[in-house]
Amino acid sequence: MDVFELEREYLIPFYKRHKVVFVRGEGCWLYDERGKRYLDLVAGIACVAIGHSHPHFVRRVEEQLRKLIHVSNLFYTIPQIELAMKLREITGMDKFFFCNSGTEAVECALKISRKVTGKRKFVALKNAFHGRTMGSLSVTWKEKFRKPFEPLIQPVEFVEPNNVNDLERKVDDDTACVILELVQGEAGVYPLEEGFVKAVFEERDEHHFLVVFDEVQTGFGRTGKWFAKDHYGVKPDVITMAKAMGSGFPIGGVGVTSEVAERLEYTEHASTFGGNPLACVASLATIEVIERENLVENSERVGRYFRERLEEISDDVRGLGLMIGARFERAFEVVERALNRGVVINATSENNLRFVPPLILSEREVDMAVDILNSISGEID
Ligand code: PLP
Repeated sequence: MDVFELEREYLIPFYKRHKVVFVRGEGCWLYDERGKRYLDLVAGIACVAIGHSHPHFVRRVEEQLRKLIHVSNLFYTIPQIELAMKLREITGMDKFFFCNSGTEAVECALKISRKVTGKRKFVALKNAFHGRTMGSLSVTWKEKFRKPFEPLIQPVEFVEPNNVNDLERKVDDDTACVILELVQGEAGVYPLEEGFVKAVFEERDEHHFLVVFDEVQTGFGRTGKWFAKDHYGVKPDVITMAKAMGSGFPIGGVGVTSEVAERLEYTEHASTFGGNPLACVASLATIEVIERENLVENSERVGRYFRERLEEISDDVRGLGLMIGARFERAFEVVERALNRGVVINATSENNLRFVPPLILSEREVDMAVDILNSISGEID
């Protein structure tokens, strides 16, 4: 079977894929159809937090598959309640809604913001990425993603990250929310400055909008804390999550404060699949493994080590925990060469690599990756 040819024939050409067919995964390693193994430093774009095919995850999901997969939200199901209880503990948010992806979580957050404040304007950051559906695309910065689909939802204003004057100019009494990625991921891994985040809360107190943290990429231990907000010591009004939430199983969610939840009503939002028993068990199993194996601490420790090692070969290394960006010339070529040598990496631009591996990554695997990157840099110079 010529997979490359069949993909061209049968699939809508939205993706430019690397020429490799993965058929199996175990821990931090992926295997192609010929049995060649690859160290996975992408984790399905920051999703597979506990590593591929973790035995506890497989067991829990298999058991739930046999028991009950889906009944819709017309009825009560136990895993959804258990997941919400667990999320209150680890996020500090009070009430939750479940969906199936990051973009859906952002859609819900935008709707909540308008409903709760009665205001219209969304304020996002330049370089932000929040998803590809019409609402989340409206608060996504990149012109290339937005242009073919205009007119998008309005009014939207984009603020220069970390520029408090620009923020003050653009928020007003018609602002429904300010939506932030605390670490801008698709942009190349750029953490926001604490002073700027604090200023957003000061503006909120003056103009009475909601602060939405989009933690789709930064949640569940990725940054060396359970959520990136824990680095900043603040509580937003709304938080969005997805990606690592099910360690590769599609599930997303929105967490809100009690004050926000009190102003939301029956029928204002819904999802057929959202929070079904199978997805919620996948998420519970993910959280159980993160807790039992101390993966938040591992992310912090191995992430720090990874950044130190990368500093030996790059003059600009950024990030928190195992969410790392580093400047590399001809990054797309580096990615192709690394793939040939059995290391999976992602480039966010011509001169930036992003590393978002499983949180089980070890120092030994970091050394392996850095040695290969080092020799590739030598070849490219
Ligand atoms: N928000 C952020 C911060 C993201 O990084 C992404 C995806 O990369 C999304 C939202 C959209 O998530 P999804 O691709 O699951 O719709």
